[in-house]
Amino acid sequence: MRIERRGEGDPEVAVVGGIHGDEPCGVHAVEHLLATEEEFARPVAFVIANERAVESGERYLDADLNRSFPGDRSAAAHERRLAADIADELAGCTVLALHSTQSHADPFAVVDGIDDVARELVPRLPVTAVVDSANFVEGRLFGADADADVIEVEAGLQGSDAAAENAVRIARAFLTATGALPGDTVTHEVPAFRLTRRLPKAPAEEYEVFVENFQPVAAGQTYAAADGDALVAEEAFYPVLLSAYGYADVFGYAADRIGSLP
Ligand SMILES: [Zn+2]
Repeated sequence: MRIERRGEGDPEVAVVGGIHGDEPCGVHAVEHLLATEEEFARPVAFVIANERAVESGERYLDADLNRSFPGDRSAAAHERRLAADIADELAGCTVLALHSTQSHADPFAVVDGIDDVARELVPRLPVTAVVDSANFVEGRLFGADADADVIEVEAGLQGSDAAAENAVRIARAFLTATGALPGDTVTHEVPAFRLTRRLPKAPAEEYEVFVENFQPVAAGQTYAAADGDALVAEEAFYPVLLSAYGYADVFGYAADRIGSLP
């Protein structure tokens, strides 16, 4: 882990990139902000989480870091030890964690429950949706520390220049919305979704998806295929984090629309 602090005192706000080593956008945003000459009105921690995975360009070395929280210092897996160190550093902070995906080009936020912090901050970020990850938070940064408020953002397509640029804009908006950087942020309406179930993926050579993330899928609609075998929706849902090859064992998630923020 690389951590650098700006502003006076113990960090109250944190920007985290590099939780997954093959998602360079967050690392870019952290390095960009560390290079600015701006004064931070609140103490901020900038973290590049899994430096070793970033260096090797791999998602992780031993275990997915975002399934390893709260971590364990005596674990064999590098990421489980690292998770414990990161959890310590972020204790009590309001945290932005930057990710990227293979599923969707437009940035969206992921939260663990729509709480007051999510209601206040998410509409001030340049994101097009917010996802309550509800029952799917096991091992994620959300569980790192009971007092930390965590907003994850998927900044765009993995490895793209657009995701890197989005990550900088999102991080700046987050730091402005939390009062760490001067200026105003504009509040806008953000459609909200809640994950309801995984969309499992049978072992196959070739996968296809036929629907757009965040766009409604009707009951009876074919949303994906595995080696040409159609997967048909039994009931209506909204696909989230859906992609052909983004995950090993699921296409992504089904979600319900739950209104809008703020
Ligand atoms: Zn990620």
